[in-house]
Amino acid sequence: MSSVLYAVYGASGCGRGVMPLAREQLRHQGIPADRLVFVDDNAEAARVNGHRVMRYAAFLAAEATERYAVFAIANSAIRERLAAQCRADGVHPWTVSAASVVVMDEVLLGDGAILCPFVTLASNTRIGRHFHANLYSYVEHDCAIGDYVTFAPGVKCNGNIVIEDHAYIGTGAIIKQGRPGQPLVIGRGAVIGMGAIVTKDVPPGVTVVGNPAKRMNKE
Ligand code: UDP
Repeated sequence: MSSVLYAVYGASGCGRGVMPLAREQLRHQGIPADRLVFVDDNAEAARVNGHRVMRYAAFLAAEATERYAVFAIANSAIRERLAAQCRADGVHPWTVSAASVVVMDEVLLGDGAILCPFVTLASNTRIGRHFHANLYSYVEHDCAIGDYVTFAPGVKCNGNIVIEDHAYIGTGAIIKQGRPGQPLVIGRGAVIGMGAIVTKDVPPGVTVVGNPAKRMNKE
């Protein structure tokens, strides 16, 4: 008998952190752990942390009525490429969320998110596809987060903030609250260094560090 097959794509640090969340989520749905595998294009090991590791071609060839994958890879450009590849092959995006996650009212969350333990998404917030919110991060009210945005652990994204596609927010960064109708904007592909205190807009593609956060190697 065939059934649905679930994959955590990426068997490195990020993937090994997501796998137990994925396993727990499926356990709640009564789905056995052997329907959950790692997919990795480079891993040598046949098993990682008790789960089978498959190459992508083997995942596609395995007997299954449907396939789901979550992209547990911090690099957002790789996530985007793999998401397109999977979409073309009929593999559905999968959202994995820890049991301790709090989601408040009117939160619109795109496909394929990873919400790690103790993440909070506060009310009236929109989040795009393949978002990663690592341990203890939060998104406060009235934020708009784009596609393929990545939060390292402990990111404090306060209210009225816009974060454009592919931005990366480092561990423990704090982003100052914007105003209604006048959000603080982190531009597309910007990188916020760990521990940065972001008090004003960050242009697209720029890396900022420090308190208050400033462009790296400038000023
Ligand atoms: N990977 C993959 N296919 C790709 C790109 C990456 O399977 O096209 C895998 C890669 O082999 C590695 C993982 O994704 O095992 C990424 O791990 P890395 O340590 O670079 O990053 P992290 O786990 O921190 O996101």
